[in-house]
Order: sequence, then C-alpha cells, then structure tokens
Amino acid sequence: MAEISKKASVYDNVTYQFNKSSDLMKLDPEIRKILSKTTNEIIIHFPVKMDDGCIEMFTGYRVQHNNALGPYKGGLRYHPAVDIDEVRALATWMTWKTAILNIPFGGAKGGIQFDPSKYSYAELERITRRFTFGLGNNIGPEYDIPAPDVNTNPQIMAWILDTYLSTVPSLERHRSTHVVTGKPIESGGSQGRDKATGQGVVFLIEQWAKDNNFKLQGATYIVQGFGNVGSWASRLMKEHKSKLIACEDATGATFNADGIDPDVLTEYAEEQPGIAGYPKSKSIDHSTFLKTQADIFIPAALENQITADTAPLLNVKLVAEGANGPTDPDGDAILEEKGIDVLPDILCNAGGVTVSYFEWLQNKRSEFWELEEVDTKLHRMMVNAYERVQDTAKKFNTDWRTAAYIVALNRLGKVYKERGIFP
Ligand code: NAD
Repeated sequence: MAEISKKASVYDNVTYQFNKSSDLMKLDPEIRKILSKTTNEIIIHFPVKMDDGCIEMFTGYRVQHNNALGPYKGGLRYHPAVDIDEVRALATWMTWKTAILNIPFGGAKGGIQFDPSKYSYAELERITRRFTFGLGNNIGPEYDIPAPDVNTNPQIMAWILDTYLSTVPSLERHRSTHVVTGKPIESGGSQGRDKATGQGVVFLIEQWAKDNNFKLQGATYIVQGFGNVGSWASRLMKEHKSKLIACEDATGATFNADGIDPDVLTEYAEEQPGIAGYPKSKSIDHSTFLKTQADIFIPAALENQITADTAPLLNVKLVAEGANGPTDPDGDAILEEKGIDVLPDILCNAGGVTVSYFEWLQNKRSEFWELEEVDTKLHRMMVNAYERVQDTAKKFNTDWRTAAYIVALNRLGKVYKERGIFP
C-alpha cells in the first residue's frame, strides 16, 4: 500500500506543468495571468447529526478554476487527505481536460475531508445532503455540475440530486436533473458512465498499441487503485486477452504471474472490501508491486505516486494515467530518461467527463442513449483528442503531458482573445 505523499504540494505540480507548457508555446502573458489563478474557492464548515445524536463538524470544498468554455464541471471526493491545495489542483486539471476534449465545460472540483468508511450509510447520506445544502447556488445544472470521484458513487450523486431539487422552486425541478452527473440510470444517469473513465483509458491504450505496433494480446499490465477506474480498466483490458499480473489498493497488493481475473477480483474487492487477502494470488509489498516487470502500468488511485523515489523502480513500457496527478515533475523526468511512454491524466482519464457531458446532454433533451451510441461517441472523442496531443507533441518536439497542456491552453487562449476581458 502506497503512503499518501503530502510532502510536495499537488498544486505546485500543476504550476510547474503549466509554466513549462506556457513557456514552450509562448502563451500570451496576460492569458497566463488569468489561467494561473482559480476563480472561486468555497470552503464550508457544516454540522451533521451522527447516529448517536452528537453533532460533528465537517469541512467541504468546491474550487471553480475556470468557466470560459462552459459551466464548471468536476468530481467530488470524500477522503481524509482532501484539502484546499489538492482541490485547487484537481479543479485546474479539469479545465485542461475539458479543453483538450473539446467539451463545452470549464473546470471545478470539490470534496469533503473525512474517511467515509468510518461512518454509517445513514450518516453518509446526511453528510452528503448537508454539504449539498451548504453549497446552495454555488452548484447548478447550467453553472457547476459535480460528479463522482474517489469514494463517491452513483448513490451519493442521487442524494445530491434529490437535495438540490428539493431546494429549487417546483417549476424548475424537472429541468434541473443535469445538476449532477454519474447518477444511477433510473435517476437520469447515462448508459456507460460507470465504466467511462476505465473505458477511455483502454481506448487510448489501444491507440498507443496501434501506433507502436504493440500486440495487446498476451501483454501484461499492473494496476494501482481498484475502485471505479482501476477495476473497469482492468476488466476492459481482459477483452484484449491482456494479463493483469499485479494489483494494489489501499488495503494491500497482490501478484500472480499467471494472471489475475479482474472480474473475480472485482467481486472479491466489493465483498471484503479491498483486494487484501485475495486467495488466488500472493500478497506483495508496495515496492515489489512497483518493481513488477510488465508492459503497462495503470495508476488509478491518488496523486504523487510516481516520484523521484518510485519512478526508478518501474519496469514497464507505458504508464496510462487513470488517476489524476499520479506523476510529479521529478517522476516525469525519470520516466522520460527511462524511455517509458506516458498517456497523461488530462488526456487519458477524460472518458469520465466525456460521458458526464453525454449524460448532461441527455438530461437537457429528455433523451436516453443506447450504450452503443455512448461508446461510439466516446471512442471518437478520445481518439480525436489523442491525435491532437500527438500532433502537438511532434510539432513542439515535447513530451505528451506538455503537449496536452499546449492543446488546452491554445484553445482557452483563443477564446479569451476573441471575447476579450469585461469590462
Ligand atoms: P475509487 O474511490 O472508486 O477508487 C480508489 C481506489 O484507490 C481504491 O481501490 C482505493 O483502495 C485505492 N487507493 C486509495 N489509496 C490508495 C493508496 N494509498 N495506495 C493504493 N491504492 C489506494 O476512486 P476512482 O473514482 O476510481 O478514482 C481513482 C482515480 O481516478 C482518482 O485519481 C480520480 O480523481 C481519478 N478519476 C476518476 C474518475 C471517475 O470517473 N471516477 C474520472 C477521472 C479521474
């Protein structure tokens, strides 16, 4: 199990990446000033009644980085490590991500600093509802639209939806279901949203394999984080007959050279919860996990996992970033030195926000799309974005993360130039 590295500020990583890309593309200094700041930072301290009748205070965050391209959009995270620095970074990455994908959304992120596993189901519902109430009009279907992230899920989105709808005038209720995405299907969710981020990761791995004449059949992969993103990416890689040989989550790590069936591991992890003690493979420690020789590494847990300390241990050809911010700038430099390709987070994990956009559109139009339609559109958008980043990497002779930033900053820069600054 990886320690949560709080040594380096995650937002410092964003600033480093932003400055590196802005320098290389010679971004207009005035636009640079605007994009280097978040627009709104909301911190809410709110009381919740616990099952035993006591009151506990919680701290929740919503950071809205930029809405030049459309309403603020980004997930909500429930985790003890959530703080303003982390949420600022995650919100900023959302702005770049939606810009790369050509989605008409801006970037935001939020979260509550607590460990949801220590609370009952009823407490979790009250915490979620009270935070949503506290956010009030800081979220809205055409203004700022939350979605699931670490330790949040469709059920939590349904509570947010219900709380929000209960607080708006009755005439507005049925045209407000797109206030949140990643909802359960019955409550207005989209087919394919659950697997969307993992699906996007796998679409890009396929594209990378095609470009590099690499055969996915029989290829080996390791995955860190076995929640929504990690388990879906693992299960979808199985369709290529690739082999999951090591996996790590917050409870531990496990290895089997003959392959681990991701479907069986998913069932086990949901029951336990977590992968620790999985009987069909052997338990390994964190550094053994990182040293595992494999073709592909999919980080799908938290930030700052590939650093100066851990990048030297990696023994893979490709890092496909399902997580946000898994690699810090030192880690990036080492991966480059080692010749390991990187599909950067703001490109690679954009499948989630893309299908969130589809869900938002379906809600606005009172439509339901078939899974095939969702998958086809997602595939096209991911591959188009991949090609934009690929072309930019060639043009600027730079790494893919920097190229992905340049694609995003270029689009945002054009919009600011065209629209000007009010007044
Ligand atoms: P999740 O809560 O479903 O799963 C998180 C997983 O990470 C769990 O398996 C957990 O055990 C594991 N984990 C936590 N701490 C760990 C540690 N110290 N070492 C190893 N594993 C650890 O969350 P998720 O939605 O799958 O999100 C995972 C990552 O993907 C996050 O970085 C998130 O921001 C990013 N992401 C998620 C989505 C989405 O649609 N859910 C979209 C884009 C990006």
